[in-house]
Amino acid sequence: MRTKIVAGNWKMNLGYKASIQLAKEIENQVKNTNQNKTRVLVAPTFVNLKGTLEQLNEGIVEVAAQNMHQAENGAFTGEISAEMLVEIGIKTVILGHSERRAYFNETDKALAEKINTILKHHLETIFCFGEVLEDRKAGNHFKVVESQLKNALFHIKSDDWSQIILAYEPVWAIGTGETASPEQAQEMHAFIRNLVAKQYGSKVSNTVSILYGGSVKPNNAQELFSKPDVDGGLIGGAALNVADFMGIIQAANL
Ligand code: PEP
Repeated sequence: MRTKIVAGNWKMNLGYKASIQLAKEIENQVKNTNQNKTRVLVAPTFVNLKGTLEQLNEGIVEVAAQNMHQAENGAFTGEISAEMLVEIGIKTVILGHSERRAYFNETDKALAEKINTILKHHLETIFCFGEVLEDRKAGNHFKVVESQLKNALFHIKSDDWSQIILAYEPVWAIGTGETASPEQAQEMHAFIRNLVAKQYGSKVSNTVSILYGGSVKPNNAQELFSKPDVDGGLIGGAALNVADFMGIIQAANL
C-alpha cells in the first residue's frame, strides 16, 4: 500500500508565532482524529523551521523545508544548504515548485543537482513538476512532464526512490482556483506512474506516492484522492487555514 500524504506549503506566509500556532493547532486536531492514516507535513519559511519543529511532538505533523541549494556550502548569498537543514532536524525538502522555476529560474539541470544533494544527505524530497497553461492547450502536457522528470530525476538509482515523493502540479491550477478535474489528474498520474515503471520497474512505480497540487480544497479533495493513482496532495492556500487543511486530511483518510 502506498502512503497517503497531505503536505502544506506555506510559501512566504506566516511569521514565527503564527507558524507555531498553526502547526500546533493542526497537530492537536490530527491527534484527535481517530485512525489518521495520512502522513501530514507543513512547510514553513526557512526562519521558522526550527521554532516550528521544536514545538511539535515527533512525527504527528512533520516539518519540511520549501527549498534548498544544491552546493554543500560557499558564496551563495541568501541560500540554505542541506547540512544546515539536517542539523536542525529537517528530513523533507520541497524541490522544483513552479514558483521557484518561474521566479527564480530554477532549471531541470539545477534540480538534478539538488536531487543528488538530497540523496547524499539522506533527505527526502517532494519533487514538484507540471505544465503551464500553454502546454496544456497545445496538448504538450505529457511531453513536458516527461522531460521534467527525465531531465531532473531519472538519473537516480532504483534504491533512491525511497527518498522521493512526486507532486504533479499543473501550473495553471496553482493559486488560481482552477483545479484539474479528477479525471485529468488521474490521467496524468497514471502516465507518470507508467513512466516510472518503464524506467525502474513496477516495484518502484507501485510504491512511489504521487501527490496532486493545484487549488485542492476540502470540497474537491475527496474526489481527487479517490482516484487510484492520486496519493494525496500538496496544498498551498488551503494549508493556511486549520479547518480547510483538516478537511483535506480527512478526505485523504477515507
Ligand atoms: C502550491 O503552491 O503548491 C499549490 C498547490 O497552491 P494552491 O493549493 O494554492 O493552488
